[in-house]
Amino acid sequence: MLERKKLDRVLIVGGTHGNEFTGVFLIKKFEQFPHLIRRSSFEAQTLLGNPQAFGASVRYIDQDLNRSFGKQSLQGNVFNYEEQRSKEIAQQFSIAGETPADVIVDLHSTTANMGVTLILDTLDSFRLQLAAYLSSIDPSIKVYYSGNSGRNQDSLRSLSRFGIGIEIGVVPQGVLVAEAFLKTESLVYSILDYLEEYNGKKCPSFSNQLILYRYIETIDYPRNECSEIQAMVHPQLQFRDYKALHPGDPIFLRFDGTEIFYKGTSVVYPVFINEAAYYEKGIAMCITHKEHRKIEVALS
Ligand SMILES: [Zn+2]
Repeated sequence: MLERKKLDRVLIVGGTHGNEFTGVFLIKKFEQFPHLIRRSSFEAQTLLGNPQAFGASVRYIDQDLNRSFGKQSLQGNVFNYEEQRSKEIAQQFSIAGETPADVIVDLHSTTANMGVTLILDTLDSFRLQLAAYLSSIDPSIKVYYSGNSGRNQDSLRSLSRFGIGIEIGVVPQGVLVAEAFLKTESLVYSILDYLEEYNGKKCPSFSNQLILYRYIETIDYPRNECSEIQAMVHPQLQFRDYKALHPGDPIFLRFDGTEIFYKGTSVVYPVFINEAAYYEKGIAMCITHKEHRKIEVALS
């Protein structure tokens, strides 16, 4: 059982990636109307993660800020904007920082068809119970566990004891989409309400069943020796995030019309399919396994 320690500070972050406008404009709204995120038992703060990248409407200026919070990055020399920015944020909000955040909720968007996705990097009972609660009140919410991808070591949310990522898609980069904005806003309020109950030692009711999608590996686009892509995500796979992909199903379409098939040996569930920001990372999709977890309902 998790020892329940009161949560004193919750940090809501948007614009960790400068061209993901949902989070950016939610932060601006919360800063204009702070009562919306005010709760009695903890302090809620906001942060625009990468203001320069937002100003330029790009994901980042020099390097991906959300990969800049590893121990080595934070302890190393500063050579560029994001290295400086990650140090500033860590000095303020990390566990050893000036105003440490117990929970960081980092708001993102994706060009993949992932709907509302909660990202967990660690399966502790706190986060599992929160995820079970949120998916109880909205069963369309998907829960993605980043598993052994290393995201619990280098992401902005990894600065806090309980980091949570939120993705919403399909949202084009550099575009503000009202439906995505409203859904993310509503999810933020549900999270804050849950944390308020948690601090009050209440036990919000939720299902003890949780479906989560565990990261297994990435698949890159087929590329030539110059790293140029040689095929597209297959039209039968595009926008089919969280849908079952069977061995032998088509996953890529070459420009000459020939198909490339999934060579795995079991049914998997791809996500981040054709995410625009991942072309440079060598990722055409992330492969997950679907798991049914039984969640302990009683809060300790
Ligand atoms: Zn992002």
